[in-house]
Amino acid sequence: MSLSETLKFPNGIEVNQPTGLFINNEFVPSKEGAKFDVFNPSTGKKLLEVYEAREADIDAAVDAAEAAFHGVWSKFSAGERGACLLKLADLMEKNLMELASIETANNGKAIALAKGDVAMSIQTLRYYAGWSDKIHGKVIETDNNATFNYTRQEPIGVCGQIIPWNFPLLMWAWKIAPAICTGNTVVLKTAENTPLSAYYACTLIAEAGFPAGVINVVTGYGKTAGAAIASHMRIHKVAFTGSTLVGRAIMKAAAASNLKKVTLELGGKSPNIIFDDADIDKAVEWVNFGIFFNGGEVCCAGSRVYVQEGIYDKVVEAFKKRAIMNKVGDPFDENTFQGAQVSKQQFERIMGYVEAGKKAGATVEVGGNRVGTEGWFVEPTIFSNVSEDMQIVREEIFGPVCTIAKFKDVDDVVAKANNTSYGLAAGVHTSNLKTALEVAHRIRAGSLWVNQYNALNHALPFGGYNESGIGRELGKEALRNYTQIKTVSVNLQ
Ligand code: ADP
Repeated sequence: MSLSETLKFPNGIEVNQPTGLFINNEFVPSKEGAKFDVFNPSTGKKLLEVYEAREADIDAAVDAAEAAFHGVWSKFSAGERGACLLKLADLMEKNLMELASIETANNGKAIALAKGDVAMSIQTLRYYAGWSDKIHGKVIETDNNATFNYTRQEPIGVCGQIIPWNFPLLMWAWKIAPAICTGNTVVLKTAENTPLSAYYACTLIAEAGFPAGVINVVTGYGKTAGAAIASHMRIHKVAFTGSTLVGRAIMKAAAASNLKKVTLELGGKSPNIIFDDADIDKAVEWVNFGIFFNGGEVCCAGSRVYVQEGIYDKVVEAFKKRAIMNKVGDPFDENTFQGAQVSKQQFERIMGYVEAGKKAGATVEVGGNRVGTEGWFVEPTIFSNVSEDMQIVREEIFGPVCTIAKFKDVDDVVAKANNTSYGLAAGVHTSNLKTALEVAHRIRAGSLWVNQYNALNHALPFGGYNESGIGRELGKEALRNYTQIKTVSVNLQ
């Protein structure tokens, strides 16, 4: 029974890739022994097989996490928890090329982007390592002088975490770091199609000093392993990143089981707005980056571009020119900007939306086709002549496809920007500070980027308004998701 396989990548990197479930600091086969295939989306070929977690495996992971939470992990001081996170970050830095190459092979993203993801994952671990010993309660005076009252911010316990396939390692880091620094233990499920980078990172967990059971990572299908986490009676918090549809299912499962705390980071259909007075070249650069970064497989992708009437034609021309310059193809080429879409299923979904856009009468300004015949590559695609009711304007495509439309003034564009069930992010490009801030404050979204886009940083809270989610990840805000307040009141008389 092999629990790892050698993978060799086109850039010469070779890794011993674990294929088992990571429970109690060991890679183990699944209880029922079932396995499934994991693919390389840039070739469409199978990479290897991994073990599939089902309900009994989730139970085993929860047993491990629960024992660690009440046992050895509860004896670690805050500073010791931070030290483990720092050591893990250092070890990941030493393995940066291995992790990035695995990510590129398994997700299809360009290696330059994958290296950036690993670097951001490391920064996230270091940032939360710093928070470990800075989590304080308060002393609270009341109108009863004869009491001494204080609060403690205590960990919740075993936290379930379910992550998507677009940033497999980064989402792993975003999830485990705040949970661990606050003293919780975790059972994390990766997306079934992209388990490899998180598993490889788990080979470093024991060496970083984490006791067995603190961090448990499995993969498996959403309807089985994912659902088992969401409805588990001994998991007291679930954090999910993924589609709005699944987010609803998680919330229902949490409500129907033990009312576990829920945070959700869901989809988006984010507007990216250019005013007449913007620097056109810079704005076009950000709009291009806003939608085509990571092949558009980004929850905050700027997929609805709005341009003020006076410069609309100029921007469309400049954006088309810029979009066709994006290097699409071999993700192991250091100059590639856009690699493969994650799977055949996702590729077909994107192409389905492209067809829907054409049928609805929108104009393809650029793109609209598959690139090559092997792997799942899509041309950067821009649709104009769109109306607000079209499917391509309303629904999240999660691919390199955007719409571009005109607006008149601030009121007009704010109405259009807010005409969505989502509310994750938005961009506004203008040289007028007053316009920038007015738009930033009137748009109903969790992140507003002025004269930039996708400006994510581990120190800045990130999350959605409306159906884009509940709660905030990153920054100090994320600590709230993983702690609960206990009030202690002492009678001094
Ligand atoms: P996408 O549609 O983009 O693949 P999903 O929201 O389906 O995104 O998947 C995100 C994560 O949620 C994955 O890890 C997936 O396995 C998991 N998942 C899917 N369905 C469920 C479910 N019913 N309960 C719990 N987790 C699920």
